[in-house]
Amino acid sequence: MDFIKKLKEFNKQISDLESGIYLGEKRYREIYELNQKLEAEIEKRTKDLEIANRQMLTLQHILDMMTAAKPLSGVLNAIVNSLQGELGYLHSCIMRTFKEDEKQYLEVVAHSDDDFSSKIEQAMSLPLYEAKVEYLGSEGFEDYLKTNTVYHTPNVGECLYRFFPGINSNKLEQLFTSIGCRSCILIPLTSEKVHYGSLVLLSKREETTDAELRFLALFARQIELAITISNLFQTVKSQAVSDALTGLYNRRYFEECIKKETIRANRQNQKFSVIGLDLDYLKQINDKYGHNYGDIAIKTIADVLKKNARSIDVPARIGGEEFNIILPGIDSEGAMIAAERIRKAIESQEIPVIGKITASLGVATYFEQTDDVDELLELADHAMYQSKHDGRNRVTLAKPTKEISWQEVAFNTFMDILAKHRVPLESEVSETISKRLETLGINNDGLYTISDTLIKLYNPNFTPGITKSKVLLANSLAKRFDMPKDKIDNLKVAILLYDIGNILLPKQLLQKKEPLTDDEKNRIKSHPIIAAREILEPITGMNTILPIIENHHENWDGSGYPHELSGEQIPIESQMILLIDAYFALQEPRTYRKAMDKEQAIDVIKSGSGTKWNPKLVEEFISIIESEEF
Ligand code: GH3
Ligand code: MG
Repeated sequence: MDFIKKLKEFNKQISDLESGIYLGEKRYREIYELNQKLEAEIEKRTKDLEIANRQMLTLQHILDMMTAAKPLSGVLNAIVNSLQGELGYLHSCIMRTFKEDEKQYLEVVAHSDDDFSSKIEQAMSLPLYEAKVEYLGSEGFEDYLKTNTVYHTPNVGECLYRFFPGINSNKLEQLFTSIGCRSCILIPLTSEKVHYGSLVLLSKREETTDAELRFLALFARQIELAITISNLFQTVKSQAVSDALTGLYNRRYFEECIKKETIRANRQNQKFSVIGLDLDYLKQINDKYGHNYGDIAIKTIADVLKKNARSIDVPARIGGEEFNIILPGIDSEGAMIAAERIRKAIESQEIPVIGKITASLGVATYFEQTDDVDELLELADHAMYQSKHDGRNRVTLAKPTKEISWQEVAFNTFMDILAKHRVPLESEVSETISKRLETLGINNDGLYTISDTLIKLYNPNFTPGITKSKVLLANSLAKRFDMPKDKIDNLKVAILLYDIGNILLPKQLLQKKEPLTDDEKNRIKSHPIIAAREILEPITGMNTILPIIENHHENWDGSGYPHELSGEQIPIESQMILLIDAYFALQEPRTYRKAMDKEQAIDVIKSGSGTKWNPKLVEEFISIIESEEF
């Protein structure tokens, strides 16, 4: 019994073992099949990936070609060389037609490397690419351009002599004969419905067949496609706003933003700051760890800037390792705090392999150190370099670039006028102004306030904030005339002081309602001389300013005062002041007329162009006034 029981148990164990093995086997088979499926899946995925990779490479290749300095010429050169080499033409080139200053020009954008190219270059002593030729027209060619159809002629010299300056047609004919050229084919090229130029072929055969021309037309379509794609790509590229390595804004977008920010700041009378930042010792990082680690350092800075920026800030990568950040609505105090926060955040990063990095920063604020946007960027840059100079890894606030800024000259002049009583102000007024000057210090805001206060003394109808508007307008106008910085600075000082002579005239005279007698008129007309000779001449640093102020009532046609100068005899700065002063004065009420609106003031200025004002100045002035800037 025991034996049978044991046998049964034994049997059961065997069958359990058997089913275990079976189950295991099943399981094993399942795993095996799954594995096979997975392998197939992996193989398929690998293939997909390979295809994707290849596509990516092709895309990358196209992108590389397009982003290269001259993407189009690479493609076009390949086309013209294959036409010449493989299809048996003597020479093949692509000429672009373009307009410049109302004139029509031709230039070679691609040509095959052949015997003819080297001979013609030798004859011209100029590479073909550099020959920009004014197109003066020739009969047959004119028709070709008009009809936009293929043009085939055996008179090669006659057709092409316009293209090669300095080579007479005989010599050109000889050249064509020497290479065995019997005819020339021109195929017009059009890109986006606009005539682009021509595909030019020199042929050994005098005749062409329809099949040949059809075939060439096909090539021409390829060229047109390449031109169109390249143009589109350039447009897209130029519209891109971000930098590929860091994802920050790029230089182009930064420049656009700062322009807009300046217009907004002028309109709303609001400050904004710029932080300039440069990574310290990048060259060492590149040299020690390789360029890739240099890039990582740059990206780390970019990430810090992104994290620290408010939504309205504009952090941009301006160059390799240079960054700028626009902080709208932030004064220099706030910008210094922001810059210091960024500096600390950069310093606290631990980058694998490289370790720690640092950056040097500079801060400049619009309406504080300057109200010129180009100067603002220069100042931020100088401040950044000061940080480098002082040992790096620090923040510096910008100082005006010159030893004595125009603000200081104006400040010192006002102080001198008040302290030495060159103008008879009631002592209370004089003291208040002096105190205000001292507390506000040498900055634009302070100067504008003081100038406004002085204007109010002799012109109760003045528009508050007028000095600032005048300075901004003068700055824009002077820049249109490429005036150098020191002259612009003199103009700014003169804008603050040109009417100061009025303070010495009796108020009753300035505000008299009845018509003035000749004597009274002459007294009023003396204010430029009073300002220049009595008030400003004794003050140091005024030499270059005096003639500007003395002549600020001279008219373009010689009908002004005090010296009846005309045209270019009048300093350009004085001409500018006369115009700017009139523009604002016309918008203020006078005892003898109502205030005009902006359009009426512009009309008056237009009608006085050429008599009272320099017409060129009026033209630029109106364009500034009518632009978004003011
Ligand atoms: P400093 O502290 O005075 O700024 O020293 P620096 O080495 O950072 O500055 P320098 O102007 O002497 O050198 C800048 C280097 O930055 C040279 C240039 O090759 C490198 N660089 C510029 N752009 C890039 C970039 O995009 N990636 C990398 N890795 N390096 C760059
Ligand atoms: Mg650097």
